[in-house]
Amino acid sequence: MEFIAAVVPPSGIEGESIWFAFHEGQLLMFQDEQGSLIPQLARFSDLGISHRKPHYLGTLAGQHCFAVTIEPGSDLPDQFYLQDLRKLAVEVDPALFMLAGRARQILEWDDTHRYCSRCGTPTQAHAYDRAKLCPTCGFTQYPRIAPCIIVLVTRGYEVLLARSAQFPPGMFSTLAGFVEPGETLEMAVHREVEEEVGIKITNLRYLASQPWPFPHSLMIGYHADYASGEIRVDGVEIEQADWWPVNSLPKTPPRGSISRFLIDQYLDQFALNR
Ligand SMILES: [Zn+2]
Repeated sequence: MEFIAAVVPPSGIEGESIWFAFHEGQLLMFQDEQGSLIPQLARFSDLGISHRKPHYLGTLAGQHCFAVTIEPGSDLPDQFYLQDLRKLAVEVDPALFMLAGRARQILEWDDTHRYCSRCGTPTQAHAYDRAKLCPTCGFTQYPRIAPCIIVLVTRGYEVLLARSAQFPPGMFSTLAGFVEPGETLEMAVHREVEEEVGIKITNLRYLASQPWPFPHSLMIGYHADYASGEIRVDGVEIEQADWWPVNSLPKTPPRGSISRFLIDQYLDQFALNR
């Protein structure tokens, strides 16, 4: 399904649009005999839910898409419910999941940039860009995207997986961290690995990236080879880290996450079935 992004909706939209409606980070879904769906209707206001001004997202396979924030205290019509976005990946088409993440990021930005961060004046929507303008001082605010590196460190038949205290019990993942001002992505990977587990790495290879809308990260994924040092966890961000043989891994993040993708890509060369 091809998605074409746009900011300004064309005039005279007809037919049903797809509505990505969020309340406190949760997506509005519709349940019928066929399963769970993202609502499709001509006008969101037909649902009788109080909401803010919608944001146009563009078209998915020719169908118009909008993001909209549901106001607190709204009663949902029968068969509608709110869904945690992290659990949506397994229920809908990947293109819809990606768009739901895009919608959530735009709405979060909309909500947190209602005033100019320089002078405090209420902002106004830009005429044709995804941006907010200050009518007093002219400052422009764009959606925030926070680059975050994520890396699978490997040592031949072993991979380095770590866990933080916030993870579900027993789950281990790849190392990750935010890029700091002035850093290249490569510098961030080397720094994060050394800070979190105390080892040196080499031979960085970029594999893939993934928007992660909680609330506005862009995960940039690498493989790296172990170079030197012994694992020494920082005890703050990381509570445990170990080398795991590829045929005996602990519980890892679910399919659809870039962490799992990085792990599975490495395992492919060993012809292991997971
Ligand atoms: Zn201003």
